[in-house]
Amino acid sequence: MGSQSFMGSRSGSRTALVIVDLQQDFCEGGALPVEGGRDLAVRISDYVRACRGDYVLVVTTRDWHEPDGTNGGHFAAPGTDPDFLHTWPVHCVQGTPGAAYVEEFAPLLDVVDAEILQGQGDPGYSAFSGATSDGHTLEDLLAGVEADSVEVVGLATDYCVSATAVDAAANPEREVAVLLDLCREVHSSTALAAVNRMLDAGVVIRYAIPLGADR
Ligand SMILES: [Zn+2]
Repeated sequence: MGSQSFMGSRSGSRTALVIVDLQQDFCEGGALPVEGGRDLAVRISDYVRACRGDYVLVVTTRDWHEPDGTNGGHFAAPGTDPDFLHTWPVHCVQGTPGAAYVEEFAPLLDVVDAEILQGQGDPGYSAFSGATSDGHTLEDLLAGVEADSVEVVGLATDYCVSATAVDAAANPEREVAVLLDLCREVHSSTALAAVNRMLDAGVVIRYAIPLGADR
């Protein structure tokens, strides 16, 4: 990956990169692991090292659930099994090791501008429903740097990545892209549906790494 070439973001735009939920619980060994999560964290780290200068803002998000209750039905009720579509095992509880950044990505936090914490008692998946620790929304952060373009990567395509991208595209003035080779999915079937939802919303689906290169 050291000599890997990347497509980079669009020239002439003020692009923000949103890196979604690279957390221990969503990677191998965590409470709700996505296959390939750790490898993805390495790939995103390589990408950020190579392309940091293309972005006016780099934001990470973390799923950050309350320790008590079901977070609005997001966690399966005690004594019931999660369906892995709408209800989930307990994961990413505030302040626990599972909510920490996966160690493959943690060294890159030095070049991240801000963090959105999301899912605090709320079953939604979009980073636009979260806030920084001092109360700023992702919309506030984008406005603060006059971003006219947003790119989204991370975990997982079918849930938080797609929900965030669709919400970003609600502003018709904004160009929104998901870099699909820098995302991983929970299920292939729900990921396909998510890609269709994103396309319907006007999100561009593209790759960070050119076709023909090792992906
Ligand atoms: Zn969650």
